[in-house]
Amino acid sequence: MSPACPACGHAGCRTVAYADGEICLCPDCRLQWSRVAWRGDCFVPTDNLRYLDPDSLGNAASYPPYTRFFQRLAAVAQASGPLRILDIGSGGGGFVAECLRRGHDARGVEADESLRSMQPPGVLERVRFSRVEDVADLGGPYHCITFWDSFEHMEGAFALLGRLAPALEPGGVFYLRVNNSRETFNFLSLAMLGLCPPVGRRLLRGCFNLPHHAWNFSRRAMELLLNRHGFRVLSASFDETPASRLTASPAFALAIRAVYALNALLGTGKVGNYFVVPAGALPEVSRRATTNS
Ligand SMILES: [Zn+2]
Repeated sequence: MSPACPACGHAGCRTVAYADGEICLCPDCRLQWSRVAWRGDCFVPTDNLRYLDPDSLGNAASYPPYTRFFQRLAAVAQASGPLRILDIGSGGGGFVAECLRRGHDARGVEADESLRSMQPPGVLERVRFSRVEDVADLGGPYHCITFWDSFEHMEGAFALLGRLAPALEPGGVFYLRVNNSRETFNFLSLAMLGLCPPVGRRLLRGCFNLPHHAWNFSRRAMELLLNRHGFRVLSASFDETPASRLTASPAFALAIRAVYALNALLGTGKVGNYFVVPAGALPEVSRRATTNS
């Protein structure tokens, strides 16, 4: 049966079926979401180990997604002192390590025990290896709770925000770094679904990252879903993951950079960065984060 869009309510969304699940496509708000029988026993696909290795960041101090993140919260840190940060799905521990290097207080929660051995020095004792839903005491309060490429793995992601919100400092913010459906690779996948379905299906599967991802968001879909769950977007921006972090192959890196160049022309990117707050009054930390942009 054709599903209704969980963001905008559009009835009869298209589905693209695979042996292990299906990708649903909303033609209205452009949300894409998956329905699968089994997403795997951990969040970490083995083909993403390069991405999870902190060494893939190169020099983490100048890794562009990190520098943009800390720039965004610079005014908060200036007013409040070192930031308290909780990283959900902390992976190889690269972001927690960078927080510590910058003098902030950071902790992580990671569902995949196999990533213990990958943690940089000083990080292991700050990471709880558990599903976040199973952690009774998350500590805090935190200035910021981050999801670096983990939010789109979780079917219950929006309900989880509600559960985590009490661990935010009054005025604290969530940061979600997630896939963006409004970009060249996705447009190409959808076009090929019509022109050459076998190729289109393959491209869409790779672009979406089935079965590991539960969501691929457009900005509008993200805003609608957050609003439905009692949150709102404070700011959104779009950028890319440096190609060198995704592949060791020069030819593949060239193809990735070509897609990035087209995205730049279109004013978009494969990755969306969302700062999110509970709906309601504009709180102090989020006000500073806004005026810092
Ligand atoms: Zn929709």
